[in-house]
Amino acid sequence: MRSKIVAGNWKMNKNMKETEALLTELSAKLPDTKAEVMVAPTFVNLAKAVRTLETSTIEVIAQNVHFAENGAYTGEISADMLLSVGVETVIIGHSERRAYFGETDEILAKKVVTALGKGMRVMFCFGEELEDRKSGNHFNLVESQLKNALFSLDASVWSKIILAYEPVWAIGTGETASPEQAQEMHAFIRKTITEAYDATIANNVSILYGGSVKPANAEEIFSKPDVDGGLIGGASLKADDFVAIISAI
Ligand code: PGA
Repeated sequence: MRSKIVAGNWKMNKNMKETEALLTELSAKLPDTKAEVMVAPTFVNLAKAVRTLETSTIEVIAQNVHFAENGAYTGEISADMLLSVGVETVIIGHSERRAYFGETDEILAKKVVTALGKGMRVMFCFGEELEDRKSGNHFNLVESQLKNALFSLDASVWSKIILAYEPVWAIGTGETASPEQAQEMHAFIRKTITEAYDATIANNVSILYGGSVKPANAEEIFSKPDVDGGLIGGASLKADDFVAIISAI
């Protein structure tokens, strides 16, 4: 059976002191849950966050990684560096990386291969823009994002992959995909993976929804059969909101 997962993507928010405060509050308020709970603070606070959560079930994950193993890439962070501070899961392909940092499917495919090669778990993000949805191209677009970045991978590594469908028009906008739209896309994603690999892989991969998930809408979205949890941005920055979302799964 695939895991339920609720992950908080803190993006470029929270300095060290604020990170400590939020993690401490979160650990104290964490409800009993069958879901895996993850948080992704900024790079500079990862090592400290891992130490702070040493006795907690909350996993610290990274927001990004470089595709090269090491070398002359000023300002970048390698998979080895993440692993060396105890971070074993990394978000790859977030729409903000694609939009503001020029990360193409080709670059993302390399990042995925590098991270998996190092034994990391990958949370791969993808999703259509508003124009794609308006023109009815959203299924094609999502299929091509998956194909270009993931479908050359060996079947054996799929147990290390988590998918996060995040329609760009719903990220940070307050506008959420309806539970029906999320379910429709998640079912399509599973069908696409079944065709590329097989039904076992498709049924075992966790597919999270992301885009303006908040306490008020989480339960309805999570109730859909192919939605296995959420990747939460804004609402993961307040312990009470994030805890309420975790409780909704
Ligand atoms: P949001 O962000 O919840 O603030 O819309 C989600 C994400 O970018 O992962």
